[in-house]
Amino acid sequence: PVAVRTTGLTKRYGDDVLAVDDLDLTVYAGEIFGFLGPNGAGKSTTIDVIMDYVRPSAGSASVLGRDAQEETRAVHERVGILPDGYGLYERLTGRKNLEYAIALKGADDDVDDLLDRVGLEVAAADRPVDGYSKGMTQRLALAIALVGDPDVLILDEPSSGLDPNGVRLVREIARGHADRGKTVFFSSHILSQVEAVCDRVAILDRGRLVAVDTIAGLREAL
Ligand code: ADP
Ligand code: ADP
Repeated sequence: PVAVRTTGLTKRYGDDVLAVDDLDLTVYAGEIFGFLGPNGAGKSTTIDVIMDYVRPSAGSASVLGRDAQEETRAVHERVGILPDGYGLYERLTGRKNLEYAIALKGADDDVDDLLDRVGLEVAAADRPVDGYSKGMTQRLALAIALVGDPDVLILDEPSSGLDPNGVRLVREIARGHADRGKTVFFSSHILSQVEAVCDRVAILDRGRLVAVDTIAGLREAL
């Protein structure tokens, strides 16, 4: 089954910026799919269209057969996202942030179980997020992305600013998710991180798809 698909996806900002240019992507269920490209390549914009945070200028995106723009609610029910920048309520505790995310999704996850999965201490969960270190913030955002055990987990630059433990955790979570037949869409500008965990990789440059292949296939082409 197809987990994520974009067809002729194009996004312009104003007259000058062509952020995504006629992008065709097919991500299959159960794979860890790397979305690799330098800053400004159009990775976040593509994700923004998949989540319907922005509307495409042309083309379409879908998740598990549901159109991102027409069936946004259905898409959001199946997707968990670790956004670049986290989008947390800084003044609330980690626990409150998680409880809110669970309620919003109509899920029934156990907060302590989620904290455990991302290695966040229970004591930390009862403190406001604005006192968290970068690593703790990242772990909390990851826990939120896992709420409702989403069929598609989107990670946007999940390792930026993380220490080696955090990087390893992101990898383990991605692998664990895929091992249960679920899909991970792993966006990054760092080749080594995509290489370490992804089954297939799309390379994006200035909005255009440059290559899609397995890591082994890409190595051969280089
Ligand atoms: P990436 O995630 O790969 O770093 P982005 O999707 O953030 O790339 O950006 C792609 C291009 O679109 C860049 O040139 C960026 O400056 C531009 N861009 C992104 N968002 C906006 C916006 N809201 N308004 C204008 N330009 C934007
Ligand atoms: P990323 O490259 O990971 O997308 P950025 O720091 O470039 O992150 O972008 C952060 C936010 O600013 C995003 O919401 C993006 O859409 C917006 N943005 C990026 N470039 C521009 C731009 N040239 N004009 C307006 N908004 C922009």
